[in-house]
Amino acid sequence: MQFDYDIIIVGGGATGLGTAVEAVTRGYKTLLLEGYDHGKGNTSKSTKLIHGGLRYLANMDFALVQEGLEERYYFLNNAPHLAKKQTYLIPLRNYKEKIKYTIGTRLYDYLGGKLSIGKSVNLNTQKTLEEAKDFQADKLIGSIVYSDGQFDDTRMLMSLYKTFIAHGGTALNYHKVTKIDSIDNSVHQVSGENVLENKSFNYSAKYIINATGTFNDYTEELTDGKNHQNVNAAQGTHLVFDKKFFDTKHAILIPETIDGRVLFILPWHDKIVVGTTDVKVANPSLEPQAQQDEIDFIIDTFNQYAKQSITTRDVLSVFCGQRPLVKDKAKKNTAKISRKHVVYANSQNNLINIVGGKWTIYRRMGEDTINYVESYFKLEKTNSVTRELKLVDAMSNPQDYLQERYGQNYKEILAIQQELNNYDKIHDNLPYYQAEVIYQVRNEQAKTVEDVLLRRTREMFLDAKAALESAELVANLMAKEMNKPENWTTQQIEHIRGLAKLYMVQSIL
Ligand SMILES: Cc1cc2nc3c(=O)[nH]c(=O)nc-3n(C[C@H](O)[C@H](O)[C@H](O)COP(=O)(O)OP(=O)(O)OC[C@H]3O[C@@H](n4cnc5c(N)ncnc54)[C@H](O)[C@@H]3O)c2cc1C
Repeated sequence: MQFDYDIIIVGGGATGLGTAVEAVTRGYKTLLLEGYDHGKGNTSKSTKLIHGGLRYLANMDFALVQEGLEERYYFLNNAPHLAKKQTYLIPLRNYKEKIKYTIGTRLYDYLGGKLSIGKSVNLNTQKTLEEAKDFQADKLIGSIVYSDGQFDDTRMLMSLYKTFIAHGGTALNYHKVTKIDSIDNSVHQVSGENVLENKSFNYSAKYIINATGTFNDYTEELTDGKNHQNVNAAQGTHLVFDKKFFDTKHAILIPETIDGRVLFILPWHDKIVVGTTDVKVANPSLEPQAQQDEIDFIIDTFNQYAKQSITTRDVLSVFCGQRPLVKDKAKKNTAKISRKHVVYANSQNNLINIVGGKWTIYRRMGEDTINYVESYFKLEKTNSVTRELKLVDAMSNPQDYLQERYGQNYKEILAIQQELNNYDKIHDNLPYYQAEVIYQVRNEQAKTVEDVLLRRTREMFLDAKAALESAELVANLMAKEMNKPENWTTQQIEHIRGLAKLYMVQSIL
């Protein structure tokens, strides 16, 4: 039988696009179908760490940490404009913490081995306050500084998308899969709806991969109608503030929160991001809403460490995602469930599922999935090349904002500025240019104002009020470029008005 593709991947998050790049660079004709927009799920709502996971050492999960540290190295190497080394400072308040975290960070250095990106050091109180002056000084006994990475999750996803396309892949957003059918007891046929154009689609492939994250069980159900129970969703919320509340070059890891976890205070795009929480939820959501007690918990914990207190009035944005965790029925506390990933086949119909893991190891998850496909279907083995594969726009030593976001493609934005004679920003409070919107429509499958404000730029994540104020301008720019009627613009603005409510703590609508 003739198939349209070798492989169809369902789900356009980090896992789906990571697997897509792996597949296409190993010679498979590959189609990726995303039901909403690329990155709409948890991929856009991560804490933005590239890490082995210092906190997982407490679970004695050494192999998991080592895997993350190895992938951290490839991540930083292959997307040097988007991913950078970041120092993390752990404030210490007692000798128990000092001993625990000194041993932990030294072990972390050791597990990094040859791919380590810097050794941890202990600082006394005075030096700690020179490095991070915004701590409450009287409670500190010193700190530890260690190294990990940091990135912009959806800009990285766009880089993966463009890399996939450059190697001959096909990716379609707003293509929601509603049915996966078998031929001779094996899944081959995928159908669904192009939700923006109200058109149905139907594609076939030799192998089908489910990379739908927290929706894994629902997608598997499309193949056999059974109620699968392989994934848990655990919600994590972040708050964004002006950096004046904690101005430091280091990211801060608060080691002991009252729920026994850690909390990060991260410098990110000239703001600070504080999070996250870990709350088990019954049903997954693409756009979950932060709970009031999560918000209170983040603010209270921050205020226990920072000199200057924050309140809900200071929140510029709140964003919330849900981790796809492989089910471990024995453990009720999701913070303690391993972040490991699992690839498995549905033995009745051969759907391949990849689930769990974390952003940092997207490449490894892709490699493991394609290795699994080759061994499960007894195909000739191909070699993975992604460890050394620079992403298509990779650029070392970016010099400015545009190069940091677009790597080598920054020139295309300069060309659009010239073409349109438009050098203006979208909003005075944020760094994004109007020409970027046009670039994103032309090159990054941006189809709605939401795509631009949330995942191509990060306006909604950085300042929800500014994003709302940008909606009309962005809608008009897109409507002109895409030849859309006036009612399209009105609908887009209305949609953003509704969405912004989720990203604002104090409703100012
Ligand atoms: C709060 C939080 C903080 C995190 N922080 C970090 C961090 O700092 N570092 C790190 O390494 N990892 C982090 N992670 C983990 C990381 O974000 C996730 O592991 C990763 O983004 C999951 O990607 P995914 O592609 O598996 O899932 P998703 O991003 O959720 O993608 C699944 C996609 O499938 C699509 N889909 C679903 N059903 C269908 C269908 N029927 N048809 C077509 N498409 C469909 C969805 O629209 C969605 O886009 C964090 C996660 C959370 C929630």
